Amino acid sequence: MKDTLVFDVKALLHEDFKVYEVLVPCENLKLVFDEARFIRPLACTISLLRQDADNFYVTADITSVISVQCGRCLNSFEVDVATEIGVLFCPGEAPKEALSDERYYDGDTLDLSEDVRQALVLEVPSWPLCAEDCQGLCSQCGAELNEGACDCEIIEEPSVPAARNPFAVLAQMLPGTDAASNKD
Ligand SMILES: [Zn+2]
Ligand SMILES: [Zn+2]
Repeated sequence: MKDTLVFDVKALLHEDFKVYEVLVPCENLKLVFDEARFIRPLACTISLLRQDADNFYVTADITSVISVQCGRCLNSFEVDVATEIGVLFCPGEAPKEALSDERYYDGDTLDLSEDVRQALVLEVPSWPLCAEDCQGLCSQCGAELNEGACDCEIIEEPSVPAARNPFAVLAQMLPGTDAASNKD
């Protein structure tokens, strides 16, 4: 099976449409992150569709699995990632002001690596949770609360004292108000 995202256009000389199944090792796309690790090769279904003479509309369906660490309980868990992209490749040089989504290729080979890499970067969760209702760790003893409550006493969040109310402070500072005169 093909293992790169570089395609030889000459192979499509007599065809207008071709589908490739590709299995790309993650290392090849420099998919290295502190907070996530790709643990399966990227399984890609790539289709190349000739448009006009030498333009190719390329679609990629990509799936993989990453290992991430829960932001609350710090356990590692696996997440399926799946994404798809569509890119139009035109032969020639990229214009200096590339405002469109079009890509350019040298007329011989299309390289989808960077497009796929960027699409996958967006799939890495920035604050992964192993479960929506993960209980996390006790802030006092560090026990994992998903496995049951610990013996720490629950410290209630102190309610905001009245003096913190800015208007109460203001009232005390103003001479002649009830708050100030009551102090005497
Ligand atoms: Zn968790
Ligand atoms: Zn505890």
